[in-house]
Amino acid sequence: MAILKLSKIRRIYRKGDNEVTALAGLDLEVEKGEFTAVVGPSGSGKTTLLNIIGCLDSPTSGEVVYDGTPLKALGEKALADYRKRHVSFIFQSYNLIPVLTVRENVELPLVIEKRLKPAEIKARALEVIAEVGLSDKADRFPRELSGGQEQRVAIARALVKEPYVVLADEPTANLDSRTAEEIVELMRKVNAERKTTFIFSTHDKLVMQHARRVVTIRDGELVSDERR
Ligand code: ADP
Ligand code: MG
Repeated sequence: MAILKLSKIRRIYRKGDNEVTALAGLDLEVEKGEFTAVVGPSGSGKTTLLNIIGCLDSPTSGEVVYDGTPLKALGEKALADYRKRHVSFIFQSYNLIPVLTVRENVELPLVIEKRLKPAEIKARALEVIAEVGLSDKADRFPRELSGGQEQRVAIARALVKEPYVVLADEPTANLDSRTAEEIVELMRKVNAERKTTFIFSTHDKLVMQHARRVVTIRDGELVSDERR
């Protein structure tokens, strides 16, 4: 079964009398464990699509179904809880908290969730920090890291709650091309080992080459969908 199913998604932005159709009736199904790049020219709707998949924004019309749960059926609070529990983001600008160490940054999603005991939170954080190759940096602060290392921390933080899906909007845009490739290789390794579903947008041809599926959108419509 698809872990995620989008049906006829439209998203219209209204600004005064102006209407912009960011997504124009898009259909997309994602299976568990897929490693999907969303590509397309600037303004094609990539960010809008990722925000809707990530429950940060709601479609003007159409339906989003996660693992059999239509998001429409959830109230605002339940939707926010759902997002906190099951959806993770990796941001272009990392969004690490400067006064927290690497380990504390990675622990944060679980600390906020209050579902697990402190010892288990710590153990889980150290496990994902090891997975992204930063065990020796667990007690360092973000300012002591390179951009690539900060993005590794952001990946560890995204994984720690074992989400249904990890979303990343142009995650390598602030990195040089070699580091960008290392980061996408790391995402792919995690995807292969943990079967974590990744959906990321990118402009970068090198990053695209690592995708197992490439969804191309233009003017808010899906124009090609290629599995490799
Ligand atoms: P991409 O990420 O592919 O560059 P976006 O999803 O950001 O595309 O934007 C798709 C379209 O929607 C563009 O025409 C953009 O100008 C418009 N748009 C995006 N966000 C807003 C907003 N908050 N208000 C009005 N128009 C928006
Ligand atoms: Mg964008």
